[in-house]
Amino acid sequence: MNYYIEPIARLINELSRLPGIGGKTAQRLAFHIIDMPRDRLADLTRAMIQAREEIKYCSVCCNLTDQDPCAICSSHSRDRSLICVVKDSRDVIAMEKMRDYKGVYHVLHGSISPMEGIGPDDIRIKEMLHRVNEGEVKEVIMATNPDVEGEATAVYISRLLKPMGIKVTRIAHGIPVGGDLEYADEVTLSKALEGRREM
Ligand SMILES: [Zn+2]
Repeated sequence: MNYYIEPIARLINELSRLPGIGGKTAQRLAFHIIDMPRDRLADLTRAMIQAREEIKYCSVCCNLTDQDPCAICSSHSRDRSLICVVKDSRDVIAMEKMRDYKGVYHVLHGSISPMEGIGPDDIRIKEMLHRVNEGEVKEVIMATNPDVEGEATAVYISRLLKPMGIKVTRIAHGIPVGGDLEYADEVTLSKALEGRREM
């Protein structure tokens, strides 16, 4: 039997379809939403709809943006000869928080994954090759995730770029700061060793 009246059940069902929201959280959010003042709820729904409608893909780097080209691509202080390739827009935010990187980005919006039926044409590789063909790019940093899909994507792209005379580098993956060597898994440890540089 269903314990919830229909409008609440429908709301819980919609919320539980969001990533990271389990049944309990969906229930808590649903009851919170029902208790919200009307104007607060209107602000929330408006923010959701506006975010969805006003955000588009940058025609240069494919990052999510509200202006085209995006703020990074149109900035004069960024080095356009250096492209950092990432899986999604959240990775750009992570890199930007570091404040060290002065190049531009290319957002793939996914990784090559034969297991999930995602091939090179399903992510934004063509757009990147188009940029490289324009001639300004000297180095491409592959900053895809250090998992099977991320590695496969990095290798695939580097094989396309190297014959074009582009320097292709891969970010080093290793032991997290504050991490303990003893607890690092083998892949992490071997990547850390591989990415070592002279001191
Ligand atoms: Zn851009």
